[in-house]
Amino acid sequence: MIPYGRQDIQPQDVEAVIEVLKSDFLTQGPMVPRFEKTVADKVGAEYALAVNSATSALHIACLALGLKHSDWLWTTPITFVASANCGRYCGAQVDFVDIDPDTYNLCPKALEAKLIRAEQAGKLPKIVVPVHLCGQPCDMQAIHALSQRYGFHIIEDASHAIGGKYQGNYIGDGRYSDVTIFSFHPVKIVTTAEGGMALTNNKQLADRMDLFRSHGITRDPDLMTKEADGPWYYQQVALGYNYRMTELQAALGVSQMERLDEYVEKRNALAQRYDELLAHLPIQLPEQHPDSYSGRHLYVIRLALNKLKVSHRAVFEQLRESGIGVNLHYIPVHHQPYYQSLGIEYDALENAERYYVEAISIPLYPTMTHDDQNDVLNALERSLAA
Ligand SMILES: *Cc1c(COP(=O)(O)O)cnc(C)c1O
Repeated sequence: MIPYGRQDIQPQDVEAVIEVLKSDFLTQGPMVPRFEKTVADKVGAEYALAVNSATSALHIACLALGLKHSDWLWTTPITFVASANCGRYCGAQVDFVDIDPDTYNLCPKALEAKLIRAEQAGKLPKIVVPVHLCGQPCDMQAIHALSQRYGFHIIEDASHAIGGKYQGNYIGDGRYSDVTIFSFHPVKIVTTAEGGMALTNNKQLADRMDLFRSHGITRDPDLMTKEADGPWYYQQVALGYNYRMTELQAALGVSQMERLDEYVEKRNALAQRYDELLAHLPIQLPEQHPDSYSGRHLYVIRLALNKLKVSHRAVFEQLRESGIGVNLHYIPVHHQPYYQSLGIEYDALENAERYYVEAISIPLYPTMTHDDQNDVLNALERSLAA
């Protein structure tokens, strides 16, 4: 089976983790701050908080932005459930904005139309979570302009997108958002096994996220309500969690970051080769906006069903049977029984619905060979002709 994605672990990664195992600190040592600095310096952010998953990063970002029961969080329906769940963790209501039919990212025009309606109903969102699907950045300039007009915060879910660029700058520099989050799950672009990070240029947000990732406990005199009782003293000033990343994970992350640009270049080269190999097939290939240099986490094709005799499901099943580890990113989040159970009347979200019945993610990862890609092409040709 050619998987849809997989990690690349080199001997120096193994060595870096072993070094930590032999050291004094397995957690709360020097490696986590080093990983944070490595990522922050790379992408051009002031502050970075490493945590045990991107899901945790989304949660502490929502908490730091003060999301509460009476608030709304909006995101795209075409994402992993975590982009929406972070709102529910804070007790907020979650709603969805339709996607752009070409980039599959949250559509700024649909967002504006929804904001106009929400303003009239007195239900403007407190936070909007654009997701850089497949690694391609959203139209952040347009979303940011709307945030200025309607007064919402922005958390960029860049789980797919580390190493990519928007308007020539690394995603994560925060020029159009309050917080950006990355995921280091093994299928993503660089890995720490499990892991995530929240980046911001706002010191107050960074301090608050730091509290929430570690029990709400601080040793910083500036954050305490009174003077320390003694050198042992700390205070719990908020209800936080244990979302800490381990030293082993951080060491793996530091080592992986050395190859970030190389990974993204390889992914782009393979994606371009797919563009050429698949151009003759009755499918829609992923369109790239000129402002975007995608991290190319995923390569999604869409079947031109009106030109085919076979169904989406049959093509998917036949590809799996041919040993091609295809996947579908994603089932629209508002279809999930949990989101259906909340009693919210979601918009029609027509572009998302159409995407769902046509999309298939085909394999893409940096160590994929041209032979692997040719196998994907052959299997696709067979299954589409069936
Ligand atoms: C993977 C992913 C997440 C969650 O990442 P974890 O590190 O597994 O918690 C969130 N959002 C998107 C879009 C993802 O792809």
